[in-house]
Amino acid sequence: MKKMFINGEWVESRSGQTREIINPYNQEVIAIAAEGNEEDAKLAVSAARKAFDQGDWRKTPAHERGQYVYKIAELIERDKEELAELETLDTGKTLVESRADMDDIANVFRYFAGLADKDGGEIIASPIPDSESKVVREPIGVCGQITPWNYPLLQASWKIAPALAAGNTIVIKPSEITPLTTVKVTELMEEAGLPKGVVNLVLGDGASVGQELAENKDVDFISFTGGIETGKKIMRAASGNVKKIALELGGKNPNIVFADADFETAVDQALNAVYFHAGQVCSAGARLLLEDDIHDRFVDALIERVKRIKLGSGFDEETQSGPLISAEHRAKVEKYVEIGIKEGANLAIGGKRPEDPALEKGFFYLPTIFTNCSSNMRIVQEEVFGPVLTIERFKDEQEAVQLANDSIYGLAGAVWTNDAAKAERVAAELRMGTVWINDFHPYFAQAPWGGYKQSGIGRELGKMGLEEYTEIKHVYRNLKPEPVNWFK
Ligand code: NAD
Repeated sequence: MKKMFINGEWVESRSGQTREIINPYNQEVIAIAAEGNEEDAKLAVSAARKAFDQGDWRKTPAHERGQYVYKIAELIERDKEELAELETLDTGKTLVESRADMDDIANVFRYFAGLADKDGGEIIASPIPDSESKVVREPIGVCGQITPWNYPLLQASWKIAPALAAGNTIVIKPSEITPLTTVKVTELMEEAGLPKGVVNLVLGDGASVGQELAENKDVDFISFTGGIETGKKIMRAASGNVKKIALELGGKNPNIVFADADFETAVDQALNAVYFHAGQVCSAGARLLLEDDIHDRFVDALIERVKRIKLGSGFDEETQSGPLISAEHRAKVEKYVEIGIKEGANLAIGGKRPEDPALEKGFFYLPTIFTNCSSNMRIVQEEVFGPVLTIERFKDEQEAVQLANDSIYGLAGAVWTNDAAKAERVAAELRMGTVWINDFHPYFAQAPWGGYKQSGIGRELGKMGLEEYTEIKHVYRNLKPEPVNWFK
């Protein structure tokens, strides 16, 4: 039984309702979680409000807050194996991947712990004689944090660590389908000794708990990671008290391969780009753009490699890719494949569930490739969020850039070429928050992450990831106060 954490207490939902948490590999119930609603969210917000307004947390020296955040990193490392197993049980991703996630997460907490006391404010040159002017950063207040199911704890860490380092209080709501690691880390935050009310955890769905956090006038900042339509709802709900918002939304990320790229590496990484975590990655390279000269050879090489991708249990060392997260999500992927076929894209491989009876109970779907795609197709423009790759061809640099930018999204993209100048020119033209040259997927705590266009608002990670959790105050001091006699 997984409970919620409100005002320093582990509690069931006020309504007494619960939800079964399902293992996507075999549909077994792995936990029962309290199912909160608006009422629980309101209680958590009140606790966070009180802890911010009346508690010492925001006044605790930044260095000391950093020590708490550092302690959380240490506890995550201590319990890394348990956390990784929980993440694999809950999401179906491979244990190798979950372990790597936990390393990243500990690094995120360490990074923000170190950054906590590095900005002591700035003295600025006042244009007024006999005065002093300084700019300081202060915590924003109560932060609502809403996370998705694909990287449950990783996305939570990008929000929790900077919020605490900057002196805010938080109410976090993980995805209702994958709450387990967020619950566990909340236990670790309790163990780290954070003051009562600083961290609050509410479990439950988006329409009740999430919507309440976005609307609640005692919440000063709402940080959301998830789908674009939910992002729009949050923007509208947040307007009630003009709260600050940060949105990390989806992507349809182009992976551009020029004929002069290292062929084998580009093929290998194109697979990694799209099929990692069964394509359930916001920055998945689901849109492959191939230069004419290599198109056919590249497609053939990809298909050969795709045939060898081993689906299975995340706990099996041989497994390269796990199931999709839910029956509902698989149905969405299947619908998109139908749309692709109707639009005239050529289904080159996959496009169905695996036939292996051992995988029958899991929400598996075969890695899929569509060729002969064009940028006006929905299968090319919309985020499928599954193991589905679309391939388009281009004739030159200009066309590659034009196709890559033809999207409502602008999260990430990659360019593969051995011509350094061309790589730089293309990178400069891409309207995306992250561009990789001769690589795909690297991200780390030190670099900002976020999207252009409808992929979001704001940045997480990096120095900016901490600044997002601060307000800026200008303090002006007159060193020689005297009457101005404006009104004689
Ligand atoms: P989702 O939008 O369905 O849900 C995300 C979270 O929002 C969940 O906790 C959900 O309960 C909550 N929610 C749902 N409706 C809400 C509402 N009306 N008000 C407030 N909260 C609400 O997304 P998902 O299916 O969980 O995640 C997949 C999406 O997340 C994909 O689009 C993916 O691209 C995106 N994503 C983006 C990033 C990034 O860094 N840009 C990272 C991971 C995932």
